[in-house]
Amino acid sequence: MASEGQKVVLITGCSSGIGLRIAVMLANDEKKRYYVIATMRDLKRKDRLLEAAGDTYGKTLALQTLDVCDDESVKQCVDSVKDRRVDVLINNAGIGLLGPLESIKMEDMKKVFDTNFFGAVRVIKEVMPDMKRRRAGHIIVMSSVMGLQGVVFNDVYTASKFAIEGFCESLAVQLLKFNVVVSMIEPGPVHTEFEVKMMEDVAKMEYPGVDADTVRYFKDVYLPSSTDIFEAMGQTPEDVARCTKKVME
Ligand code: NDP
Repeated sequence: MASEGQKVVLITGCSSGIGLRIAVMLANDEKKRYYVIATMRDLKRKDRLLEAAGDTYGKTLALQTLDVCDDESVKQCVDSVKDRRVDVLINNAGIGLLGPLESIKMEDMKKVFDTNFFGAVRVIKEVMPDMKRRRAGHIIVMSSVMGLQGVVFNDVYTASKFAIEGFCESLAVQLLKFNVVVSMIEPGPVHTEFEVKMMEDVAKMEYPGVDADTVRYFKDVYLPSSTDIFEAMGQTPEDVARCTKKVME
């Protein structure tokens, strides 16, 4: 349980990548300023987090199940927090979807929006009333550079990040008078399972009905240059965790 003076931080999507690293970094804060509730949709995936977290589990780190696509799971998780007091919410859970619109299934597009947009909105909706009542809180959303700039064959992922950016811009204005701050983090490429999955998607990609110029551009220009960008500028999840911690301070 959080002790006096500690901020309760609830983070979504902590089984891997950026979410895992934020949880580990905050739980290991040298001044013990944070009590981290690291959530994931399947606690069977907890081992990597626990291994990285050192001896913080049960002290400054707690685990909870939370599937951002499931209303009941979100409610149960927030209800399980003492007095429903979440000082900082970090909406990190997200999925990608790469491919030409012609070959992407409608259900997969909806899943991206249900996770990246409605997933964040669901958790925000659950914690926001208590933050407003307490007149304190910080809502952080892991957006992306693709929340600012469109990229070929990333139409739906980009749209989901633009959507959450717009939502947060609007919410931030409304919450300011309640002393609740809304922040967005917009990382460029980060080396996580997300990148691995993208590369798997590329290997399986089909281009039915896509014009030859676009396919050529994607294969000969976009893919090699994005691989170079990843190599030259790709950040580690620790870099993004450090940035997130700074935003909280
Ligand atoms: P990972 O794939 O490593 O992590 C994504 C996390 O989201 C996993 O823990 C995954 O859990 C979780 N997740 C997915 N769906 C749900 C769900 N329905 N409910 C709860 N958790 C879920 O990728 P990253 O760490 O890279 O991604 C984290 C965030 O950063 C995402 O929002 C992504 O869009 C954003 N981002 C990533 C960039 C990159 O290059 N990697 C660049 C810019 C932004 P599970 O283990 O259950 O699948």
